[in-house]
Amino acid sequence: MKKALFIALLLSPLTFHLSPSQAQVRLRPDAFPPVEDTGAKATITMATTVEQMANWDRYPTYPVYLEMMQRWVDSFPDLCHIDTLGTSVRGRLILSMYIEPQTYDDLYRPEFFYSSTIHGDEVTGYVMMLRLIDTLLHGYGSNPQYTNLINRTRISINPLANPDGTYRYNDNTLQGAVRYNANNVDLNRNYPDPFISTKAAVEQENQAMIDYFMAHQFRLSANLHGGSEVMNYPWDCFTSAQNPHPYAEWWKAVCHRFVDTSRSYSSNHFNDVPQADDGVVAGGDWYVIHGGRQDYVNYYHECLEVTMEISSQKTISSSRLPDYWHFLQHPLVNYIEEIHSLPTSLGIHRQPDTHASLSIYPNPATDRISVNGADGPVELYDATGRLIKTQAIKQSSNQTITLDLRSLPAGIYLLRFGGKTATVVKQ
Ligand SMILES: [Zn+2]
Repeated sequence: MKKALFIALLLSPLTFHLSPSQAQVRLRPDAFPPVEDTGAKATITMATTVEQMANWDRYPTYPVYLEMMQRWVDSFPDLCHIDTLGTSVRGRLILSMYIEPQTYDDLYRPEFFYSSTIHGDEVTGYVMMLRLIDTLLHGYGSNPQYTNLINRTRISINPLANPDGTYRYNDNTLQGAVRYNANNVDLNRNYPDPFISTKAAVEQENQAMIDYFMAHQFRLSANLHGGSEVMNYPWDCFTSAQNPHPYAEWWKAVCHRFVDTSRSYSSNHFNDVPQADDGVVAGGDWYVIHGGRQDYVNYYHECLEVTMEISSQKTISSSRLPDYWHFLQHPLVNYIEEIHSLPTSLGIHRQPDTHASLSIYPNPATDRISVNGADGPVELYDATGRLIKTQAIKQSSNQTITLDLRSLPAGIYLLRFGGKTATVVKQ
C-alpha cells in the first residue's frame, strides 16, 4: 500500500460491507438453535477518533475505545475509575468503568455489574455499554434518576469481555469478528460449571473475570449478547422442569419489566425466540448449555446474573446503533435499579444448596448408587432430561434408596427428589 493512500485511510472513517463470503452462514456445533450470522447485511463504519463517536452511530476502533475510557476518567475523576481485569490472549486490555461518587462512602451501596460481548461478534452491547457509561456520567448531578441511582449503587461496566474476538484481524476493524477468543474457545462455554465437572482449562479472559468477581460483591449483573432478542434467566444447564431457579418468579418479573419498558419505545423487539414467553425464557428451556457465565455467577458468587440477548443480528449496521439505544436505554438503567428491590434473601446469602440434605454414594458410581435422606420417590434423568427410572422409597429402608445403574451407559445423570437435584456420574 502506498503511503499517501495509507494516510488517507487513516484520516477517513473506515467503512466496509461484510460480504457473504466473509461472514458465511454456518451452524454452530455448540448451540441450538443455530443462529444465522446476518452480519452479511450489515454496513459497518468505524470511528477512528473519539470525536467520530459523537453521534454513537459508529463502532470504535480498539485505540478509540481505550481513549474513550481514559477521557471519561479524566473528565470525571471524582466519579469513576478504570478497573483493569486482566488481558486477553493477545494482550488486549479487559477493562471496566467503575462508577462511584467519592462523597457517599458512608452509605452501604450494593455493587452492580454489566458486561458485554463475551462473544466477539455480538457487538451491539459493546456500544450500548459505552453509551451507558457516557450517559450516567454526564447525567450525574443533572438527571435526578441517574444521580439518585449512582448515589445509592456502585456500578461497574465492562463493555468488551472478548476484545480478541471483536478485533480479530486488527485493532481498526470489526471485519472478521468472531464469537471465540484467540484460542478459538467459546468463552461462554468455558466457566466452571456448578453441576457437571469439566476438564477444560479456564481461558485467561475468563480467569480475569473470575478474579474480578472474587474481588467484589456484585449482587446483580447481566451479560449482554446478540443474535437473538430475549431475556434469558438461569439456569442454562437445566430446563425449568428439571430444576427451576429458586428465584424464577422474581426473574420472570424483572425480565418482563425490561421487555415491557423496551417495547414502550419500540414495540417490535424481543419476539424472535419461539420458546420464550413474551420475550422471556428460562435458559435451559431455550437450549441447554454448560460452562456458561450466567450459571457460574449465580451459583458461585451470590450474584444474580441474567443473559440479555439484545439484537437479532449479532453485528448490526452502525447506523442502527442509535435506534437500539432508543429502546434499550431505559430498561438498561432500570435493570440497575432492580438491585434495590432484591428481597433480603436474594443475593445476600448463597443460593440454596441443592445438595444440602442429600447423601449420595458412591459418586461417581459403577454398579449402583445409594441416596440417603430421601422423603419420597427418586427420579433418575439422563443429561438430556429424559426420565429413565423412578424408585419409590421403602418403609424399612431408613430413607435410603438404592438405584441399579448396571444397564446404563457411562455418563452424567440427574437425580431428583423433593424438588432437589443432584448430578451423578456413572463410570
Ligand atoms: Zn452470545
